[in-house]
Amino acid sequence: MRRLLLTRAGFEDDLCVELATRVPGVQLQIDQPGVVWAHCPSGPQAASWPAWQTLAFAREVIEVHAEVSELSRGDRLAILQAHWPATLQHDSVHVYAPDADALRTLAPMTASLQKNFPQRADAASKPSTHLIFLASDRCVLGRAAPPHCAPIASGVPRLKFPAAAPSRSTLKLDEALLHLLSPAEHAKLFQPGMQAVDLGACPGGWTYQLLRRGLFVTAIDNGRMDDALMRTGRVQHLRTDGFRYLPPKPVDWMVCDMVESPLKVSDLAAAWLGGQHCRFAVFNLKLPMKKRAQAMLQCLDKLAAVTGVTTLRVKQLFHDREEVTVLVLTEHQGPSGRDKLRAPRIAAHQSGRRHDPTRR
Ligand code: SAM
Repeated sequence: MRRLLLTRAGFEDDLCVELATRVPGVQLQIDQPGVVWAHCPSGPQAASWPAWQTLAFAREVIEVHAEVSELSRGDRLAILQAHWPATLQHDSVHVYAPDADALRTLAPMTASLQKNFPQRADAASKPSTHLIFLASDRCVLGRAAPPHCAPIASGVPRLKFPAAAPSRSTLKLDEALLHLLSPAEHAKLFQPGMQAVDLGACPGGWTYQLLRRGLFVTAIDNGRMDDALMRTGRVQHLRTDGFRYLPPKPVDWMVCDMVESPLKVSDLAAAWLGGQHCRFAVFNLKLPMKKRAQAMLQCLDKLAAVTGVTTLRVKQLFHDREEVTVLVLTEHQGPSGRDKLRAPRIAAHQSGRRHDPTRR
């Protein structure tokens, strides 16, 4: 089986290091910025391919059916259709080029071809056919199948920046929660009244996302929190060190966007999760200048060894830069024994209706 993998341009080597570690025997070849080929051994010893949510540097993963070149000589679609297996005829179809500077000029052509394929409402949960243009005359025809592919074709989501959010970082947590959890998991793990701690919270972009999902937030940071978020009455701001703070009672979520070495942050997360100070966590690992993938894998190995961890997902999100975002779920019981949610402490301070910037 041949696969085409897309990654952020400049992270091809990191994707190769990650794949070589995760998929024994895989043969890898970098094609151009943002594009890597993976050839997997077949037969009974073939390693199973990791789920998309667990491959940090893979933006999109395509099972390749055909690579078609010399497309500039005629009707591109007609030429491609000659290579189109009947088994793919009923899929929804996505046409695009990898997200790399050298391929930006292909956007009008791929957009025009895309018009031939109306999108289906159920597309996200079903396998889909992808036409990926690696040049104006070279296209890979392949199939992307959940859970091995991105929830948004190409792995480049266009999230709308919420006008009331106090920082653009808000999109990182939004993307992580939308793409590293299934809709069913998201509904279960974010219930009104749950409690979260946001380490390195200011000015409040991540806190905004937690409030929007109905949570109460303790925001830890020496900086200034956004006034509108504070006025919701659902945020407690403590000016203290995020590496020393622990909640007096366990909380549901801990999120952390502090700029620190990845090992220091993953050790902090391991202490929270292993010590049952939280049940679920999302945090960034800012990657070092060198050996980025190796540093990340070292952190993940330590986290996987924490007692109670059931789920570990990681992704260099579209809205991330030199960092990856990690989501960890444990089997620990929540602050209220889970089924009966306790009224949050700071709820007592609330009275009357307030303007809430997190309600859209
Ligand atoms: N997530 C925030 C948002 O969406 O608005 C942005 C966080 S910003 C990237 C990092 C924050 O971490 C800064 O506000 C900084 O003051 C805070 N920070 C860094 N080290 C910290 C520490 N040891 N304790 C608490 N906050 C810290």
